[in-house]
Amino acid sequence: MTVADLLRASPLPPLEARILLMHVLGWRRTELITRDLLPLSEDAVARFGALSARRLAGEPIAQLTGKREFFGLEFDVTPDVLIPRPETELLVELALEVIADTPNARVLDLGTGTGAIAVSIAHARPDARVWAVDRSDAALHIARGNGARLLTENAVTFMQSDWTANIDSSLRFDVIVSNPPYIASDDPHLEQGDLRFEPRGALTDDADGLSAIRTIIETAPSLFANRGALWLEHGYDQAEAVRGLLNARGFTDVRSMRDLAGIERCSGGVFAA
Ligand code: GLN
Repeated sequence: MTVADLLRASPLPPLEARILLMHVLGWRRTELITRDLLPLSEDAVARFGALSARRLAGEPIAQLTGKREFFGLEFDVTPDVLIPRPETELLVELALEVIADTPNARVLDLGTGTGAIAVSIAHARPDARVWAVDRSDAALHIARGNGARLLTENAVTFMQSDWTANIDSSLRFDVIVSNPPYIASDDPHLEQGDLRFEPRGALTDDADGLSAIRTIIETAPSLFANRGALWLEHGYDQAEAVRGLLNARGFTDVRSMRDLAGIERCSGGVFAA
């Protein structure tokens, strides 16, 4: 059986079949095209079949390949962490904008998961001092691995903390970012698609979807020096509520930004002591 035969016979969407076959063979996209008449080993066909069956049963592509690209970098992904989403690149862009004119800026990422946000910021700004926390040790293990592979030296300091609870009170930051669990516990999306296979604690607060956001907005200001910015990712219908919470806590310049799909996806503001 050739590459072309296998892909033609696959019940998967063509793009997914190609991604899984590239993973099995260790090939790039161009190799899949130029070698499409090459016969495949029985082993490769069997491994592709096993991954295809898991995909058809719903497992996310990123968990089957163990990888997902985010902000131009390739992150390791396991079932212990949220799969990085393209819309979260907006949060990275907003943080980079905040610190654009601040040399050696101090950045904190709350609930880092794969480390995608913190590592992308540190990669774009090697002079920045980036901290990243997660309450899950399993997630921190993945995040540390991604940091070690994608960055020079220990550009990001990873530590265990439930939001800001264990963060040394002497630390101060110029910008704090977070993509917290913001899906309400009764949202049917939790039982659909990739979300069924991702850690529940990374997706939902098991409440109204705003409880982690409330905790972060309440506690973040104590970690700013004279002035700091907070940017949060949130659900498609939460922008107004999040702006309300930021205003009530005393943030100024409160605004929301739209993702590429036109949805208000991140809200933030400035806190001046
Ligand atoms: N953006 C994710 C989704 O809706 C949710 C991630 C999160 O809760 N932070 O699929």
